[in-house]
Amino acid sequence: MLYSVSIFCLAGDFIIQFTTRQTKILEIIQVSGPITGNQIAEKLQLSRAALRSDLAILTMSELVGAKPRVGYYVTDQTINKQKNSVFNTLLVADAYSRPIIVRGNSSVYEAIVTLFIEDVGTIFVVSEDNLLEGAISRKDLLKAAMGGKNNNELPVSIIMTRMPNIILTTPEESVLVAAQKLLRHQVDALPVVKIITVDNQTTFQVIGRFTKTNLTHLFVQLAEK
Ligand code: ADP
Repeated sequence: MLYSVSIFCLAGDFIIQFTTRQTKILEIIQVSGPITGNQIAEKLQLSRAALRSDLAILTMSELVGAKPRVGYYVTDQTINKQKNSVFNTLLVADAYSRPIIVRGNSSVYEAIVTLFIEDVGTIFVVSEDNLLEGAISRKDLLKAAMGGKNNNELPVSIIMTRMPNIILTTPEESVLVAAQKLLRHQVDALPVVKIITVDNQTTFQVIGRFTKTNLTHLFVQLAEK
């Protein structure tokens, strides 16, 4: 995983704000270091001269070191920062909410009522044993409601996104990884599951939900601390 750098870095008594290019260079050094200035320039399709000031700033920040004939490498300071990043140490277990669930044979109408009563954007569909079967979002329900069918009779299992296409998280996963999943897959919520394997068969018991709202709460808590 790439080190996602905070764009502000404390170097001695100075606060340096990295540019997008400097952040990109730091990522390249993180992945490919030790690497020479020429090799970095080649990867970025720029001249070595164009990178001189960026490399100087990164070296000054002490996140990057440089050795003659070896190249640029990330320092222990970068590695420690990455390890100690609060988003890596925080776990989904610290942030998730209780799940809002319905059964597959519940009607679209019932699901819409649940959405309002529970004030959520996503409902998970589970079996009698609480095993994950699918997910329904606001827009899935809106689409069904506009479809002209009898929503009292239409079961949610017909309109849900179903397993194995559901993106999941677990309480042990870092908040950063779960947040990356939300962004990458463009969904608002992940079911938090307990993974159960019996006789080589894996099932996912729904124990919570991890949403963009959980992330916002966490962000505000951290900022107010
Ligand atoms: P909305 O479409 O209401 O803005 P989402 O962006 O969360 O809400 O959902 C987009 C689509 O992805 C919907 O069709 C929904 O069924 C599906 N979906 C929602 N959550 C997940 C998930 N965790 N994994 C996979 N698909 C999901």
